[in-house]
Amino acid sequence: MPELPEVETTCRGIAPLVEGRTVTAVIVRDARMRRPVPDSLAEELPSQRIDQVQRRGKYLLLQAQTGVLLIHLGMSGSLRVVPRDLPPRKHDHVDIVFGDSALRYHDPRRFGVVDWFVGPAEEHSLIAPLGIEPLSADFSGTWLHRASRGRRTPIKLFLMDAHTLVGVGNIYASESLFRAGIRPTTPAGRLALARCDSLAQAVKATLLDAIAAGGSTLRDFVGSDGAPGYFQHEAFVYGRAGSPCRHCGTPIRQRTQGQRSTFWCPACQT
Ligand SMILES: [Zn+2]
Repeated sequence: MPELPEVETTCRGIAPLVEGRTVTAVIVRDARMRRPVPDSLAEELPSQRIDQVQRRGKYLLLQAQTGVLLIHLGMSGSLRVVPRDLPPRKHDHVDIVFGDSALRYHDPRRFGVVDWFVGPAEEHSLIAPLGIEPLSADFSGTWLHRASRGRRTPIKLFLMDAHTLVGVGNIYASESLFRAGIRPTTPAGRLALARCDSLAQAVKATLLDAIAAGGSTLRDFVGSDGAPGYFQHEAFVYGRAGSPCRHCGTPIRQRTQGQRSTFWCPACQT
């Protein structure tokens, strides 16, 4: 599933290919997504210029002149820029056409969102409730400490709550907690300021490392073949149950937290 680094990589990959370009057509082959692709997209977006491509949480926001095209990759979505005449594959549901090229949305499981919204993006019902951006200057140990006081929620679930902090999914929450030496089950409200500082730094470092690793896949956003631009980084704990910890050799443990698998090193994380 695309997480924040993959969406950021997608954002950086497509921005130079679509910013400043004018949409000449919108082709919707299948409107049945998590929410239906609205008819207004194909009616209103053509002839408009895309001024800016940005990311908010795991949403891509393509700012046009009278509104914003909002895209979420869901569980299995991907975006690539292809020649407009390239025959669509199965699951290529939407094309945003720019003259001789097209931004093509592919999503086998159709949990994604392609929406058109007239108004400021931050007023969209899916964007308005989003929490703080982990890579913003506002997100810090001080912020985390203040936000978590009185909360008994395990710190891993606290990090993954998009109303609190956006875009820190299961992999990155597990990896950040390992880097900060914090056990995922620790009640959020019990973390002292120094540990909140370590954790905020670990969240940023983990995401930035993944984005840097994704930089090498940017070429995948152009052209007709190749895998979507997702990438695997070398995990410390995620998906490594029973394998030796990369720091101390202790077998990595796994348990279920909030219906998701959590991985940790019982020696390094206290
Ligand atoms: Zn360890």
